Amino acid sequence: MADNRLVQWLRDAHAMESQAESMLTRQAERLEHYPELRARVQQHVEETQRQARLIESCLNRHGATTSSIKDTIGRTSALFQAVGGMTAGDEVLKGAMAGYTFEHFEISAYQILVEAADALGDLETREVCEGILREEMAMADWLRDHLPIVTRQFLQRENAGETAKV
Ligand code: MG
Ligand code: FE
Repeated sequence: MADNRLVQWLRDAHAMESQAESMLTRQAERLEHYPELRARVQQHVEETQRQARLIESCLNRHGATTSSIKDTIGRTSALFQAVGGMTAGDEVLKGAMAGYTFEHFEISAYQILVEAADALGDLETREVCEGILREEMAMADWLRDHLPIVTRQFLQRENAGETAKV
């Protein structure tokens, strides 16, 4: 497998994490009435920042940089721009849906990177990507497990006339 293909996918992953960081940060700001969800999202912001640094170090070991980020952002951001544009008052749930979807996008990206790094014999990158993959799976699982309670919280707030505040 060509080294430049792995480098390209690492760059894509770095751009994906940059996108994830800004999306999750904006999401956390709007979750003041959902402290448990907010804490988990904030934890994942920190994980995401660390993931971006790890991917950058993988690129550096290949003598590459993260300079071509802008190419990929357009490909990963459309879904979240759509969510950001919604004003139906249920942004917390739409955000959770988008987050769950995005985590699976990340999971598939790291599955590919693990395999590509392995094929190239870059065991350090494989290990890094396996570690990140586990974090993405944990986040996806958490969102899946907590979507019912967040839905109930949202409905309670809405019935009490409190959802104008989100
Ligand atoms: Mg990530
Ligand atoms: Fe993630």
